[in-house]
Amino acid sequence: MNRKNSKSAYKEAVRYIPGGVNSPVRALYGLDEEPLFIDKAKGVTLVDIDGNKYTAYCLSWGVFLQGHSHPAVKTAVIKAVAHGTSYGVPCIAETELAKKINTFLPSMEKIRFVNSGTEAVMSAIRVARAYTGKNTIIKFDGCYHGHADHLLVSAGSGVAGLSGASSAGVPEDFTRHTVSIPFNDQKAVEAVFKLKGTDLAAVIVEPVPANMGVIIPNHGYLEFLRKITKDYGALLIFDEVITGFRLSSGGTQKLFCIMPDLTTLGKIIGGGFPAAAFGGRSEIMDMLAPDGPVYQAGTLSGNPVAMAAGSAVLNVLSEIGFYTELEKKCSVFYTVLLEVIKGKNIVLNHIGPMFTLFFSDKEVFDFNSSCASNAKRFAEFFRSMLKNGNYISPSRFEANFISSAHTPQDMEKFIDAVQKSI
Ligand SMILES: *Cc1c(COP(=O)(O)O)cnc(C)c1O
Repeated sequence: MNRKNSKSAYKEAVRYIPGGVNSPVRALYGLDEEPLFIDKAKGVTLVDIDGNKYTAYCLSWGVFLQGHSHPAVKTAVIKAVAHGTSYGVPCIAETELAKKINTFLPSMEKIRFVNSGTEAVMSAIRVARAYTGKNTIIKFDGCYHGHADHLLVSAGSGVAGLSGASSAGVPEDFTRHTVSIPFNDQKAVEAVFKLKGTDLAAVIVEPVPANMGVIIPNHGYLEFLRKITKDYGALLIFDEVITGFRLSSGGTQKLFCIMPDLTTLGKIIGGGFPAAAFGGRSEIMDMLAPDGPVYQAGTLSGNPVAMAAGSAVLNVLSEIGFYTELEKKCSVFYTVLLEVIKGKNIVLNHIGPMFTLFFSDKEVFDFNSSCASNAKRFAEFFRSMLKNGNYISPSRFEANFISSAHTPQDMEKFIDAVQKSI
């Protein structure tokens, strides 16, 4: 596999862009490998600037449940661009997408669009604090909620690669109201509520964490979070930036039948454009300006092209059988994959169309057990998968994604590569 052009593009990028990338995990740090530069992508095929092809399991970090460059999305985007690319004045496309999202996730009675998951979470927490009149938030070790200052505490995703899983440049004062505790541990939650119950504004959680690798919530755990927050008058925020429209048409909340107070969405709903959203009960969302005292705004928020892309994606996902077909494909895939990794000290965590292979001989159920997986073995695995034409998510703390565009042949190729790689 010749990667001459990517190598020189990287060299050039590093001169002008820190680390050569605009989001750290893309640099493939810790993997002893240089980033690929992509020329184009269609379906599940990535083509780099040297003409090499890879089957994608990262899919722009879970953005494309329908695969890259879906024809229906492309058509909608071209049509939108022909009308104009931004107005800074309301357009119907915003209401259309909000209405569609509300149909799938009825807990989001009112929705506001922003440009990134980071913004969505930041704003949801602000509105939760204003609504409750309290300050403290609980998050979970290894969950990632974007890069706002007060959330870079024991965070997952790219932050997990830094020592202490937090960032430099964040004053302690800014994280004073954030308590981070282990996921799947009821006692830890109860202890914090006992200690700080009167000042708890919200519990924010990736209901099925995917940023420390995929972690499955213990039976009854999410129900427990729903109950304890209600009992203490704190809000429950589901960060469904990854799981929304992925685990089911109504995200984790539909799958587990739990109504959070606020929800954040991103990734899938932008159809490959920078769009995200937060929403929830009307009485909470009405705290936002102009109706209420909580300020939140965005020059490009509700961008007409992004809204059109999002609507087109949701149309594709609403087609009859979309989720059942996907589920069927995934279940066959996991069955075969489990056979292949048997006895190799590899743990497969999976739910719906997302999974992580942990190089560990012990169950992985929280950040600690995820960190205990073998980094060196993962790096070797990543390189070997790449050599065999599969682009998996380039970190042991990330999920891999399956889309409706993966064919049985793609998945056979993946399994073959796994067999060779381990
Ligand atoms: C990706 C992600 C975010 C941040 O979204 P950005 O668009 O990258 O800012 C927040 N929460 C979760 C669960 C995510 O996976």
